[in-house]
Amino acid sequence: MRTSWTRHHFSETVNMNLQKNKEGVYSAVAKATEQAGRPSESVHVVAVTKYVDSSIAKELIKTGIDHIGENRVDKFLEKYHALADQDVTWHLIGTLQRRKVKDVINFVDYFHALDSIKLAQEIDKRADKLIKCFLQVNISGEASKHGFRAEELPEVIQALQTLDKLEMVGLMTMAPFEATDEELHSIFSDMKELQADLMARQIPRMPFTELSMGMSGDFEIAIAHGATYLRIGSAFFE
Ligand SMILES: *Cc1c(COP(=O)(O)O)cnc(C)c1O
Repeated sequence: MRTSWTRHHFSETVNMNLQKNKEGVYSAVAKATEQAGRPSESVHVVAVTKYVDSSIAKELIKTGIDHIGENRVDKFLEKYHALADQDVTWHLIGTLQRRKVKDVINFVDYFHALDSIKLAQEIDKRADKLIKCFLQVNISGEASKHGFRAEELPEVIQALQTLDKLEMVGLMTMAPFEATDEELHSIFSDMKELQADLMARQIPRMPFTELSMGMSGDFEIAIAHGATYLRIGSAFFE
């Protein structure tokens, strides 16, 4: 169940539960990884802290989190600056408007939601370093979803090859909230197939070794199909 916690809602119990929730998430991830016959270091957990403020995010980091994700630029910047002393990798996982690229891009380690060529061009223009990007794929074809359609990818990759500030590390998708387990298996396995195809092409600056997929409600199925970065929020804050 996706819940939008307010700080007020759980602040009294948070210190008690964060460690327990973290251990619960990590042990479920470890179990699914083992069942998939994959090495444990091949799966990274990005803790999505959009539901909580910086002080609670800091408490969560203390439980042993090393990747933090935010979906909105303003919240990303707030956390990034408040937690500048923390040794974590920073993931911007949500839609990025072109006009906000210059405010945020040089603080981002991994950008998960590259969904247009114009956005890529703006990132290339504003970046002072190589930005690791995931191409967002709308694999289920939902009209409401951001991302490229699978059949657009060859053309998109062609267009991105001249942009030398972007490193295309992988593909990202968000499964529809109401998808059944069967649909999730099919979506994630289609993603794995697409990613493996792109990886095999060995295009310079486009390793495509990673797959960003799996959230609180579906990460076990995503792991079974090769997810390497899970984006998990609400499971930490229940
Ligand atoms: C919120 C969010 C998540 C995490 O979702 P949960 O269901 O809370 O685990 C993952 N990816 C994106 C892009 C999000 O905005």
